[in-house]
Amino acid sequence: QRIGIPREIFPGEKRVATVPDVVGKLIKLGFAVAIEAGAGEAANFDDDAYRAAGAEVLPDAAALWAASDIVFKVRPPTPEEVALMRQGGILIGFIWPAQNPELMQQLTAKNATVLAIDSLPRTLSRAQKMDALTSTAGVSGYRAVIEAANAFGRYFNGQITAAGKVPPAKVFIAGAGVAGLAAIGTAANLGAIVRANDTRAEVADQVKSLGGEFVKVDYEEDGSGGGGYARVMSEGFQAAQRQMYAQQAKDADIIITTALIPGKPAPKLITAEMVQSMKPGSVIVDMAAEQGGNCELTVPGESVVRHGVTIIGYTDLPSRLAKQSSTLYATNLLRVAEELTRAKDGVAVVNMEDDAIRGLTVTKDGSITWPPPPLAAP
Ligand code: NAD
Repeated sequence: QRIGIPREIFPGEKRVATVPDVVGKLIKLGFAVAIEAGAGEAANFDDDAYRAAGAEVLPDAAALWAASDIVFKVRPPTPEEVALMRQGGILIGFIWPAQNPELMQQLTAKNATVLAIDSLPRTLSRAQKMDALTSTAGVSGYRAVIEAANAFGRYFNGQITAAGKVPPAKVFIAGAGVAGLAAIGTAANLGAIVRANDTRAEVADQVKSLGGEFVKVDYEEDGSGGGGYARVMSEGFQAAQRQMYAQQAKDADIIITTALIPGKPAPKLITAEMVQSMKPGSVIVDMAAEQGGNCELTVPGESVVRHGVTIIGYTDLPSRLAKQSSTLYATNLLRVAEELTRAKDGVAVVNMEDDAIRGLTVTKDGSITWPPPPLAAP
């Protein structure tokens, strides 16, 4: 079977679903690989590199979709892209079925089999190698710190030089999940003093192991909502948390917020008043901008200055490190491809008895198979 990789057409999207290094590995699994001309350009992979790795380069999207039994994508396909898809084809990429019911209908009309990488059962340890949400969040957390450093007028690390003593920057991280932990590690590596808070007490050790200090809210309540995710906290907790965050905001040079609660708007943790209390030249990076933001003054997709504080609400952090995120994503999809062709004969078999594949598969031969039945307890 042939795997095809179209150029991503979402405005500003720079990622690509496979990279030259991974092409050879897909070919070893028995697949042929085709790529649309220019698909990797924005991530700094040129057509010749794909060609050298053994891929065929097709001139446009129509030719690519028509020639592909299996399509690898990053963003969910547009209606125009679905129209180009082969009847009965396989599609693997981000789909977000709960948010995209119309897309799901369009895909079933194509008798498609669709594996949504966002539906991976993340608690299965053997699924971790396929976990593109984790690799993407890791890239975003790193990039958030780089964006903050770029907007900040000082060093992150402390220095004693002939020209004077420079204190280290103080970074406060709200939410220590995958993205927050990546941000903690990156900021600590740059030499900043890093503090972090999360409603799930279990992350305190991870924060410490990455070089951060865990700051607790003075209120007895754990925020674990199951599956490693958070839940909405009580009014009492939220009030105590606001008090602690107000203290941190006054002290911090940089705040990076990553707090999310599945299926709910992002909790508002940084109020306008807290922004106002920050030192001029401070920076906030709100990684929850797309889900409404953790800061009251965030403008999604933009960088704005309010009360002398730069508030960055970029929603394309993975795309801002396109080569890295494409490489990790390509490896996640390679691992899916390996699971689909255990025989290494270049034929994808979607085995619905396999928990990981069952979770990923949101339509099969034109029938909606999402949501999957709950996983049996281990
Ligand atoms: P997420 O993006 O949904 O949330 C980010 C963080 O924000 C979470 O740590 C959450 O607890 C925190 N948060 C939510 N509300 C908050 C509030 N009001 N104040 C402060 N913090 C708040 O989560 P995520 O990063 O995708 O993953 C969360 C967890 O899932 C992680 O602990 C991760 O290790 C786990 N996970 C497990 C596996 C696995 O078992 N294989 C795979 C992936 C992730």
